[in-house]
Amino acid sequence: MRTDVLVVGAGGAGLSAAIAAKESGANVIVVTKEYPTRSQTCMAQGGINAVLYGEDTIKNHIADTLKSAKGLADEAAVETMCKNAPDAIAWLDSIGVVFSRTKDKRIAQRRLGGASHPRACYAQDYTGLKILHTLFDYANKLDITFANERYLLELIVEEGVCKGALFLNIRNGEIETITANSVVLATGGYSKLYQNHSTNSKAASGDGIAAAYRAGAKLRNMEFVQFHPTALKSSAILISESARGAGGKLLNSKKERFVDELKPRDEVSLAIYEEMAKGEEIFLDITHLGEAFINEELPQERKLALLYEGVDPLEEPLPIKPAAHYTMGGIAVEATMQSSIERLYAVGECSESRVHGANRLGGNSLLEIVVFGKIAGKNAAQTPTNSLHDLQAHIDSAQAKIQTLFAKEPKRNFYEAKQKLADLFYEKCGIVRKKDDLQEVLDYIDEVQGSLELYGIADKTKRYNTNFVDYLEFENMLQIAKTVASAALANEKSVGAHRRGDV
Ligand SMILES: Cc1cc2nc3c(=O)[nH]c(=O)nc-3n(C[C@H](O)[C@H](O)[C@H](O)COP(=O)(O)OP(=O)(O)OC[C@H]3O[C@@H](n4cnc5c(N)ncnc54)[C@H](O)[C@@H]3O)c2cc1C
Repeated sequence: MRTDVLVVGAGGAGLSAAIAAKESGANVIVVTKEYPTRSQTCMAQGGINAVLYGEDTIKNHIADTLKSAKGLADEAAVETMCKNAPDAIAWLDSIGVVFSRTKDKRIAQRRLGGASHPRACYAQDYTGLKILHTLFDYANKLDITFANERYLLELIVEEGVCKGALFLNIRNGEIETITANSVVLATGGYSKLYQNHSTNSKAASGDGIAAAYRAGAKLRNMEFVQFHPTALKSSAILISESARGAGGKLLNSKKERFVDELKPRDEVSLAIYEEMAKGEEIFLDITHLGEAFINEELPQERKLALLYEGVDPLEEPLPIKPAAHYTMGGIAVEATMQSSIERLYAVGECSESRVHGANRLGGNSLLEIVVFGKIAGKNAAQTPTNSLHDLQAHIDSAQAKIQTLFAKEPKRNFYEAKQKLADLFYEKCGIVRKKDDLQEVLDYIDEVQGSLELYGIADKTKRYNTNFVDYLEFENMLQIAKTVASAALANEKSVGAHRRGDV
């Protein structure tokens, strides 16, 4: 298959880029390893930031973002994002996103941690779901082509120029190629490295970042992993910042408050971590907000708490813990969203676009994916036609790798290795990191990577082989894990989400 713009990933970033590219006159194919409506964007609860009315100003939004980023964001990039925010909301509103409204019909806004004003526009606590499904409907109206259940294997790069990608068709086990004038990666982050210690969906395995890295793209800030303060204790399912924004209190076992709940996430998570280290259990108390408010503003969070923790937040405080939530690091991009590889763009959580620095502000990720998604799509659509020298060589190389994997009889269980890596990451590359601990993590990664011939797949069928896909994700996770732990070891300065406990 051939197209002008190939977009890999159908979350909010991929769909925004695809829509902008199509509206700029390009033919577009969007590929996803699942279905567009299941992309992780649908899990976002709290809201999307924009200055719309009242006393708040764009200057405040920029200042809050830079402060939260702890000096590691780029002012010009932050300015672009914040200045375009009101238009992004107006556009989402115009295509049908059902934002919650105030009595006078304005778009309702709530305050999230680290924000000086109520700035997050929301749709109850289903904000990401409503945005994602509306973008998907709109993309379908534009006749954008979708190829679902296709897993990105490798990017096709010749002489430093990206010319397409190779995919596994999960439905039939065949390799497919899509060549293009430009490629936009929008494959999401890597928080699922932490497995059950993460709020993320299974899909957040860092595949696009790993493929870009193998192809020679520069990565940036990989050590910065944001831990969200309030995930449910047993399942790590998120209870959004909107609960604290509305007045939710964090309590220890003695029912004492121990932190200002509306500080940025890195600070609140650290305070919880330190409290837990003293043996305290931590609870989020929203009982005082009342049934009417909770059912209207936080209905999903109540359902999730009942379903996964067996606790009704109307009746009693919720047991919580911090969990890996958002990865600030990713593929280094410039203001155009182009990576260090020509014609390879990256956007959304897989990219490092210099707006989140050491700690993302709640509500800025949904904003980034829409604003920068449009920029990526428009720029990708401008690239002239290119030609490919040797497509078959790329296919043969991917085919050979798959044949070797299918021929192996596994001696070790990669699911166990994946879980061990996640446990090590949570314990030793989590909220507080130390040199010896990080070295232990790196030694484990080296040991597993050095004995990969012992790992493999038990299921050798071709159709819908999830064992195979899980294995591909596992190899990507190992590569990403190494970049994260190495960057954490090299960075001896505690800043934002990266805290060293030994220097
Ligand atoms: C529980 C939760 C709540 C959140 N709440 C908020 C919030 O209130 N406000 C806010 O601003 N942010 C929030 N975030 C963060 C925000 O939702 C994400 O950062 C953002 O949605 C990421 O969008 P994306 O398009 O970059 O990636 P995703 O939505 O993760 O989409 C990635 C896409 O890439 C595809 N893909 C991945 N690998 C491959 C592969 N190998 N081959 C083919 N396709 C692939 C996936 O199938 C998917 O379609 C929240 C996150 C979580 C987990």
